[in-house]
Amino acid sequence: MALDEEPTSTATYWPSLAASQAAGTFWRCRCGEMNPGDYDTCHFCQHPQPDLQPSVRAGTVFTPTATDMEGEYAGVLVASIGEDGDAIALTHAKNRALEALDGYFREICGQPNLLDDATRPLSDAYYFLDSGYGVFTRRGDGGWHLTPAGEDTRGAVPVTWFRHPAGPVPSPYARHHTGQEQLPTL
Ligand SMILES: [Zn+2]
Repeated sequence: MALDEEPTSTATYWPSLAASQAAGTFWRCRCGEMNPGDYDTCHFCQHPQPDLQPSVRAGTVFTPTATDMEGEYAGVLVASIGEDGDAIALTHAKNRALEALDGYFREICGQPNLLDDATRPLSDAYYFLDSGYGVFTRRGDGGWHLTPAGEDTRGAVPVTWFRHPAGPVPSPYARHHTGQEQLPTL
């Protein structure tokens, strides 16, 4: 509610909410109710607006810190993406990402290694790594959304994606492991 308003007044709540919804400035309380953007506390439960800080407003581009991610391994911030075992590491260097992601999957997920297969060399995982840049934007619930972006994009940070392998490494890549080609060393 606005500070000069009675907590129980609905006379101004509904028109204000309608205007805020039209303008896209409303916010959703943890109780599930929506509130006009200029309400400091929830009209229904009086809980303070969770994202009064500009840096955490929905849509804000930001650089993740340790509190935004799930952990730091080998000096690299790591977080999982979705429910399929995909993950990201905040580095452009695949060898550092590999080490960090391996630590994450072993410690947090209890896997024998990043590939969840102790019989496979960790270097197989290089095939499933994709390094580039991405932009982190805040979600309304305080989480974030990551969008792949060009290096020159404002706010872009280095990211290495790990796409959880659905099957074996394709043979052109697997052959490298027994041939003369030098794989990057950890
Ligand atoms: Zn509420």
